[in-house]
Amino acid sequence: MRVLLKNVHLLDAEREYMPADVLVDGEDIAATGADLASGDAEVVDLSGYTLMPGFFDAHMHAARRGRDNEDMLRAYARNGVCAVADLGITGVGTLEHHMEFLRGLYTPEYPYITSAGRFVDVPEGYGMGPEAGMAWGIQVECAEDIRAAVEYLAQGGANGVKTGISDGIVGTIRAAMDRDMMTLLADEARRRGLWSAAHIGRVKDLRTVVECGIDQAAHTPGDEEMDDELVALMVTRSIPMTTTMGDMTGTHPMNIPPSYGTLKVFNEHRRIMQKNLKKFYDAGGTILIGTDLAKSDDFEEDAVIPYFELAQLLDAGIPMRDAIRCGTSNPAKVFGFERLGLVEPGMKACMIAFPGALDDAFKALDHPPFVINRGQILTEPAAR
Ligand SMILES: [Zn+2]
Repeated sequence: MRVLLKNVHLLDAEREYMPADVLVDGEDIAATGADLASGDAEVVDLSGYTLMPGFFDAHMHAARRGRDNEDMLRAYARNGVCAVADLGITGVGTLEHHMEFLRGLYTPEYPYITSAGRFVDVPEGYGMGPEAGMAWGIQVECAEDIRAAVEYLAQGGANGVKTGISDGIVGTIRAAMDRDMMTLLADEARRRGLWSAAHIGRVKDLRTVVECGIDQAAHTPGDEEMDDELVALMVTRSIPMTTTMGDMTGTHPMNIPPSYGTLKVFNEHRRIMQKNLKKFYDAGGTILIGTDLAKSDDFEEDAVIPYFELAQLLDAGIPMRDAIRCGTSNPAKVFGFERLGLVEPGMKACMIAFPGALDDAFKALDHPPFVINRGQILTEPAAR
């Protein structure tokens, strides 16, 4: 099946021009340029529309409290999110069940999913609290346990390893791995071709995971400003940092734990996170857009392109083109999806289009009227 998208204003992290045509052949982008011949392709006239790559949510949870978030994942794809990083099951669930659930979603109706499976941590560590429903992960107490846990995740089909060291805001974590264990976890993951990510809330814990060789920070710290030395170390080691600012404000459809306190506190954290992201950006750091979206109970709202996270980056002083990069080509590269994140020949045909231009609030990305995922049109304007 071939589709020719006509007369768009093409915008991605690397380019912006108009008018442009984009020829889709099967799952892939076959050509871009002006006045492409349609041949046998179905022509979709998108005059007056801006066309962009589908987005990549670098931090979400594909299952929560033992329930698979299938509806949420389908909504993501339909609304223009073409890939997600599933940073671990929250709630009780087996790795076997979870990976089988994800394998069943390998169609254009769903985003691509890269998954950490189940968390790995020490007893009473991240996701390991004694509270009911908090025994989320694989408990490790020694080096041998860590080797076995990573082996189990790799054999079970997980793509990454997720651990955590602190929770500066919620404060439910009572224990953390020591540095030797954390370093071994990072090394074992790397040796098996898995990415490693750590939940952090505070600058001091971010420093620890970076020094231990963990691949990426799953959040941005909001307790204090990052110092130059830590920023430089992350840039040198190519360690990305994920935004997840929405969960601090309740702007995203996600529950706010009562322990988070007041909106004033969230906003204070968010302001510090913005400062840290801008400083990291200025030093050449790689930022990923992530929502930490995890809701499944009472899930009513659609999972959409995280336009709030993008707007926060713009508000922090990061230019629009680079904010887009943080939600498209950056996560695609970090998670090894080399054919996602840009609109150019050879890339997967995962794109969105909306009328007019992108505004500063990125509101145009909320439920885009045209979505094509791996060559399959999922959403199109009622009248063209
Ligand atoms: Zn999370």
